[in-house]
Amino acid sequence: MGQINLLVLVSLGYVLVLFIVAFAAERAARAGRIKWLRAPLIYTLSLSIYCTAWTFYGAVGFASRSGLEFVTIYLGPSLVMLGWWWIVRRLVRIGRNQRITSIADLISSRFGKSNLLAVGLTILAVVGTTPYIALQLQSVTQSYAVFAETSQSGLDQTDQATIAFWVAIGLGLFTILFGTRKLDVNERHDGVVMAIAVEAIVKLIALLAVGIFVVWGVAGGVAPMMEKINASDIGTWNVSGGRWAGLTFLSAAAFLCLPRMFHVMVVENADERHLRMASWAFPAYLMLMSLFVLPIAVTGLDLLPTGANPDMFVLTIPLSQGQNGLAMLSFLGGFSSATSMVIVAAIALSIMVSNHIVMPLWLHYSGSGLSVSGDVRYVVLLARRVSIGAVVMLAYFYFRLSGGGAALAAIGLVSFAGVAQVLPVMLGGIFWRGATRIGALGGLTVGFLIWGYSLFLPSLGEGVVYSQSFMEHGPFGLSWLAPQALFAIKGLDPILHCLLWSMLLNTTVFCLLSLVSFPQPLERLQGAQFVNVFEHGSSTRSWSSNVAQSEDLMVMAQRIIGAREAQSLFRREAEKQGISGLVPEPTPEFLDVLERELAGSVGAATAHAMVAPIVGGAAVSVDDLLAVADERAQLMVYSNKLETQSEELQRTAKQLRRANEKLTQLSVQKDGFLSQISHELRTPMTSIRSFSEILRDSADMPPADKARFAGIIHSETLRLTRLLDDLLDLSVLEAGRVSLNVSQKSLREILDTSIIGMGLGAETGFEIQRQRSREDILLRTDVDRLAQVFINVISNARKYCDAAAPCLKIHVFQSNEQVTVDFIDNGSVIDAGMRDVIFEKFSRVGENEAGGAGLGLSICREIMIRLGGEIFYLPGQGGSAFRVQFPRDMAQE
Ligand code: ADP
Repeated sequence: MGQINLLVLVSLGYVLVLFIVAFAAERAARAGRIKWLRAPLIYTLSLSIYCTAWTFYGAVGFASRSGLEFVTIYLGPSLVMLGWWWIVRRLVRIGRNQRITSIADLISSRFGKSNLLAVGLTILAVVGTTPYIALQLQSVTQSYAVFAETSQSGLDQTDQATIAFWVAIGLGLFTILFGTRKLDVNERHDGVVMAIAVEAIVKLIALLAVGIFVVWGVAGGVAPMMEKINASDIGTWNVSGGRWAGLTFLSAAAFLCLPRMFHVMVVENADERHLRMASWAFPAYLMLMSLFVLPIAVTGLDLLPTGANPDMFVLTIPLSQGQNGLAMLSFLGGFSSATSMVIVAAIALSIMVSNHIVMPLWLHYSGSGLSVSGDVRYVVLLARRVSIGAVVMLAYFYFRLSGGGAALAAIGLVSFAGVAQVLPVMLGGIFWRGATRIGALGGLTVGFLIWGYSLFLPSLGEGVVYSQSFMEHGPFGLSWLAPQALFAIKGLDPILHCLLWSMLLNTTVFCLLSLVSFPQPLERLQGAQFVNVFEHGSSTRSWSSNVAQSEDLMVMAQRIIGAREAQSLFRREAEKQGISGLVPEPTPEFLDVLERELAGSVGAATAHAMVAPIVGGAAVSVDDLLAVADERAQLMVYSNKLETQSEELQRTAKQLRRANEKLTQLSVQKDGFLSQISHELRTPMTSIRSFSEILRDSADMPPADKARFAGIIHSETLRLTRLLDDLLDLSVLEAGRVSLNVSQKSLREILDTSIIGMGLGAETGFEIQRQRSREDILLRTDVDRLAQVFINVISNARKYCDAAAPCLKIHVFQSNEQVTVDFIDNGSVIDAGMRDVIFEKFSRVGENEAGGAGLGLSICREIMIRLGGEIFYLPGQGGSAFRVQFPRDMAQE
């Protein structure tokens, strides 16, 4: 028993060293010396928990049975780190931004913070990991047993159980002590990570030492070793490509999805840049770990009696050669592999169990317990501790129940295949925005069901769950449903068979359901944040410190409300809090003030959405989203209003353009008239001047000529006066300075006086047709002005009517209080383009010798406006026609 006692002592001593290391690291972290604690090398070494006792001892066993195939277990993770490290980087960034605490948290958070997903994955993780922890306990007890055997004392079942029990207790305590010391928002455990890094070195050195001993101590150098390997069965390259690819994929998937790997890789990651070293250093570590596996296996098969357990070669070779010290070192290596795995797995599981199962239940049943924050922290820590204890004990009972037989050894690849079911959903979640919760639930369910049915249950051994006939012929004789020959694909390796169907159907269901289902608002938001994690450009800095929060808030506030305002706001708040400088504590009150200040610029919902992620309340509630939507709706209303306004503006601009065109047209006309009027004035002036000169110079002129010339001068003067009168009249009318002289008279009388005044009797040959009976309307208006309009229109008809027998019809209508008088001649029609223009001043159609100065109709229009009526050209009457309309009683208008 001496050997065993020594072994127990050594293990206890080793655990003590780990305690000290972890303790020192915790202290250093608290003292702020965290730089070297969170160095890339430590991070890389911590990843080595991938190599559990199953890998430490098992790799040699694996190689002894199936040769080079063991390499796949190292190849998968190496490929991920070398080639696909950017997947890890994305996971790390998302983990940081979203404060992800576990892989269950990652998936649930991505798919709308789904509780169902979180709880389901937590349970699966516990179910999948417990046997794996049991496997570690088994390997430790087995290694004790190996020592006991060589010391001839032996170790019976009860002894083994006792050892396993105490190992479980010890590991549980260690994990509780360093894994739940305090509640860190970032879930970082410096002590644990440091201890694991030390263990990583111990196991590497142990394996290398055994390897070196085997090559140089036993075989006598590299060359003889190579010969031995070539001579053995396992050294030959007899591997199936499919199995190789399958196993490599499996280990790569497990590397990304194992809860404990996710924990060290993503949750414990202190700095994204650490991945740069890990991406080459970790594959290098794995290479060193696998370097001597084959030599050790070959030597074991060579040296030890047939039937010796190849899983223990790492220990039994040194022991058989009397190298007790080396055996002890090798034992410590295995011990390290086992303990580090148990510790991290227990922490990772306890975080999941407490966050997704215990805490929701506790919050649900304790009512408003949330208000007392210290209380909650205590409950969380307690939940963690209990969960760790429960997980480790569960593993212990599993170990006892399974009897520590071969079933446990098979669990490695089986649990890898189970864990790999998370891969499609995880990758889909971080790269595909279209992935939905329904899809994830569907894919995971299908994947796990197939895995359980075709691999996990059969792995428990024939007769345990399935009978032999069930395995061969399937349920109810449906042979295409036989667990390991699904869809009638027979003869495939069970692992590959399960991997093929589970991954295929898992991914298909996930994609199809995602495509047909519609994501909830929160899901879409999370999806966008996950997939676009690098575009969001949030800082890689830790948000745990309040100062950093305040600085981030400051930067954001400056961007939105301007540097000066933001600075004065922050300074005021800092003064209020009694802090000098610009960085006040981000108290809830201050955040409220700030949010309101920002809301002034960007709206309340957006302000909230901006402040919330910085101060950590990263969850955006559905209410927030609705508020954002509301603001959008308001914006839509505004933009609609703007649209109508701009339409109105366009209309006005069109009108303006038309008015402008008319103006230009008029100004052209005016220019034309000015030359016209000078011509108009000049002609009578010239004749007046010449005839008056003749009269002055010819004294002996006959009196008849004298009278004729004086007559011409007189009529020319009259023409000039008329022109000047018209101009004057128009300018008075236009200026609105005219005073109306309202009196009563019948329309007939007004028309009569107008026509008679013009000297238009029947003898002139100009026929005027009237409806005298209808003209008997008594008007109250400026009678003289109205007559002026009639005279003008009638005389125009007379002047411009070019018919052979000119005729003018005067039609009268009366409706309500409106009187309409139409003047229709039988001459040629005025062009459509000119019908408005003739009413402008000085406008005339064509070169018309009979015409006046083009002022008549302008005057008419001005008068009609004053009389409350109008005059316009009336088209479609056969000849030129003008309609004059006005109220019967002007005073009543
Ligand atoms: P004017 O003093 O030259 O008669 P008006 O303003 O009265 O000027 O008329 C403007 C132009 O309208 C005239 O030059 C003439 O060409 C046209 N016009 C007016 N009345 C008639 C009509 N009854 N028939 C044909 N053309 C007309």
